Amino acid sequence: MGRLFRGLRGGLAGERKRRYDKYIDSSLWRSRRAAWVAVERERVGSRIVCVVCRGEWVFGSDDLHHVDYTRLGAERHHDLVPVHRVAHDQIHALIDGFHLTRRVPLRLANRHAISILRRKKQFNCALRAA
Ligand SMILES: [Zn+2]
Ligand SMILES: [Zn+2]
Repeated sequence: MGRLFRGLRGGLAGERKRRYDKYIDSSLWRSRRAAWVAVERERVGSRIVCVVCRGEWVFGSDDLHHVDYTRLGAERHHDLVPVHRVAHDQIHALIDGFHLTRRVPLRLANRHAISILRRKKQFNCALRAA
């Protein structure tokens, strides 16, 4: 299958997980986040919101989630989505529960997980952060 279908079972495991963790700790990722925020502000105005609850997303404390890992280190803008930590954990838990085969694009699984959380009545990241 082509790169398009390189879904990862349960998200990330083994070597890929180690590579991801190392990257997330790097200055390259910190500058990629800053660049992402600059582009997003141009796109949506100054107020960036969480893709799940639509509450305000804050650079520096909230998360950027990869909906696609194939360009790790050279992400396109839409490989990343702004999300609060509580919803971020839920997205990963849902995707792990999908038991994806390698043929399912991770981007598609993400869209599904995010829509499930959005449909949960009054899912509010701020209230769920304990
Ligand atoms: Zn949220
Ligand atoms: Zn994530």
